Amino acid sequence: SEGLNKRYSFSNFIVGEGNRLAYEVAYEVAQNPGKIYNPLFIYGGVGLGKTHLLQAIGNACAERGYRVVYKSANDFSEDMVEAIKVGKVKEFRNTYRNIDLLLLDDVQFLSGKNRTQIEFFNIFNHMFLNEKQIVLASDRHPKELKDISDRLISRFEGGVVVEVCMDELTKLEIIKRKLCELKIEVQDRIVESLMKHTSDNVRDIEGTLRGIKLKGVEHLKKNAVSSSSLEKIKLYTAVHFGIKPEELVGSSRSRKVNRARHIAFYLCRKLTDASLIEIARAFNRSDHSTVIYGIKKIEEERRKDRKLNYIISFLEKHIGERL
Ligand code: ADP
Ligand code: MG
Repeated sequence: SEGLNKRYSFSNFIVGEGNRLAYEVAYEVAQNPGKIYNPLFIYGGVGLGKTHLLQAIGNACAERGYRVVYKSANDFSEDMVEAIKVGKVKEFRNTYRNIDLLLLDDVQFLSGKNRTQIEFFNIFNHMFLNEKQIVLASDRHPKELKDISDRLISRFEGGVVVEVCMDELTKLEIIKRKLCELKIEVQDRIVESLMKHTSDNVRDIEGTLRGIKLKGVEHLKKNAVSSSSLEKIKLYTAVHFGIKPEELVGSSRSRKVNRARHIAFYLCRKLTDASLIEIARAFNRSDHSTVIYGIKKIEEERRKDRKLNYIISFLEKHIGERL
């Protein structure tokens, strides 16, 4: 099996109203892959547990001997491009003909990638016809996906589509359980403040709690600010360079987008207390070395290029005042 992380399981997934249905369907699928809900499509906002559920299904099945592949749509696409380049398309296809369960994460990134969509469509059909389980996750409902072929969309909708969302009670439960896991004891007042000052994104909540563990509750305010700050930096940088914020977190390698992305990394580092890993996550990068690389590059160029230096000084001031 490939791409699985043991950290994610059904037993450490906290269930509440907003994610109960997704949890139950995912659990069923893990008991009976390929047989009941195929495909399963899970959608919802960032940090609400989609990847966690995909991984939990994968781990449960892998333990029982099923052959599992977990992959982000981005990596799937990159693997395919690489396979074409080195003339190994057959091997690429065969990987997916020999597995029992495919977990494809962040399928919104198939958007606009026509060749990848064709390849995935064929793999999908082959697996489906052979009663092999496919589970997909996306930040939006299949109907809301852009630049993905109609035939794929209709496949996505052909099984079960479930949403994960957050509600106050679930969030409270998550905060309490995670505080407990981290062995942090705080007063109710602090829990209330955490409810108010953290977003619904469980990843951000975890980050805030780790901050408390490390630096004490005094740290609370600052860290709570930092995740929304990253969002603002993304937005303002994108606007300044005339691109969409989604492009910054997407996979485009066009010069313009790449440059804007590196500048955004740089600004996140300079203007917030976010770690490199947090910045990488905020930009959907699996590896924070790309963040390090981008920041270094901007630091170097800034010293040589007066115009760039001017732009960055302007953005630092303009965005810094608005965080
Ligand atoms: P998504 O893929 O929806 O953006 P993730 O599955 O990556 O979100 O979740 C982000 C983090 O929050 C992960 O560390 C995950 O384990 C945790 N998490 C999310 N939802 C829950 C939950 N209901 N119970 C426990 N942990 C959760
Ligand atoms: Mg995810």
